[in-house]
Amino acid sequence: MTRWLAEYAWLPDHAEPTPDVLIEATDGRLTAVTPLAGGGSPAAGVEVLGDATRLPGLTLPGLADAHSHAFHRALRGRTHDGRGDFWSWRDLMYAVAARLDPDSYLALARAAYAEMALAGITCVGEFHYLHHGPGGTPYDDPNAMSAALVEAAAHAGIRLTVLDAAYLTAGVDGAELVGPQRRFGDGDALRWAERVDAFRPADEHVRLGAAIHSVRAVPAEQLATVAGWADRHGLPLHVHLSEQPAENDACRAVHGCTPTRLLADHGVLGRHTTAVHATHPTAADVALLGDSRTGVCLCPTTERELADGIGPARRMAEAGSPLSLGSDSHAVVDLFEEARAVELDERLRTRKRGHFGAADLVTAATVTGHAALGWGDAGRLAVGDRADLVTVRLDSARTAGVPPVGVFFAATAADVTHVVVDGRTVVADGRHLTVDVPTELRDSIAAVLS
Ligand SMILES: [Zn+2]
Repeated sequence: MTRWLAEYAWLPDHAEPTPDVLIEATDGRLTAVTPLAGGGSPAAGVEVLGDATRLPGLTLPGLADAHSHAFHRALRGRTHDGRGDFWSWRDLMYAVAARLDPDSYLALARAAYAEMALAGITCVGEFHYLHHGPGGTPYDDPNAMSAALVEAAAHAGIRLTVLDAAYLTAGVDGAELVGPQRRFGDGDALRWAERVDAFRPADEHVRLGAAIHSVRAVPAEQLATVAGWADRHGLPLHVHLSEQPAENDACRAVHGCTPTRLLADHGVLGRHTTAVHATHPTAADVALLGDSRTGVCLCPTTERELADGIGPARRMAEAGSPLSLGSDSHAVVDLFEEARAVELDERLRTRKRGHFGAADLVTAATVTGHAALGWGDAGRLAVGDRADLVTVRLDSARTAGVPPVGVFFAATAADVTHVVVDGRTVVADGRHLTVDVPTELRDSIAAVLS
């Protein structure tokens, strides 16, 4: 058994943190979460605290990054300047995609995932579409790129859901994939399913999910094939949705309806589905998403970086969509920043304050994100859940003097000092125990850009 004594811990369904909480785990599961009444005096039955690791600061459940493209990390700082939009950014992203192979993908993803661990992210959803070799030729193992991600997450010490994306066409009109996009394609949804069926990682830290890249990339008549595959296997299904008005316009031109309506008509929406972005939904789209309990993964730092716009987060939550968070393009890897942006962007849009409370933001960053990735047993400091702990210091220049309840409005990823994933310490004193993160990031990015 392992024991930790948290100065403060954010317990499930609490509006604010609780002081002096003893947390115990065995075999990677929480076995006891005990508030010690009286400001640190052991409660009845808790006799010896000498072997407990002290966690000064605020301890949170594991944070889930529900939307990642690991290789986009190579673009940080290279695409932010100057003019352009999502589409010009995408050309640069394709240039990196064109250069990756399983070895360089492993190195880059390992470094990116280790950066996530440092930021308190214990589980990542990798929306993975870089499947094949140059020109679209499959590798000897057609899932070699997925296998590289699995190994990368193992080295970084975090859990992974491989959201294997069907990416079949270049536009809503069914245009063929060209250039670097050919590496993404399996031909059709049946061949996509055949490839994914052959990939069943047994590793304890990995789960599988499905993804529809977008209505641009999967023809309408094949949407149900992907959705049906996820449903049959009881796996999560993710889809990029209405990140750009241009996607809505193209969908209306070809199908006479919005992307959300198209997904609804082909059985894609539902409580196991997560729509990523949902930045430009109509009022009817918001109702379709909410009524079906489709989740929405917001990626505010990417949406701002790509000049996408601000999605109607409050309206979608009220309609019934659980909200999760993703770092997507990795311009920023900081779920504190993503979480507070959900509230702050809503303020900019509405010129009113107070749409989401601190506990709402914690929920989005932890339990909802894990659930969206198929880990219903993580994201809460509760007995039986996975033993994930993320400790945020309260004595940094950013957090000193901040009440624990205010951490999500004050801290950054750099304030994370201690991270435990499934009972194993991955980060201590702000340092990753097995990966030299800055060096590996520098070298792996240089390798794909040189
Ligand atoms: Zn994305």
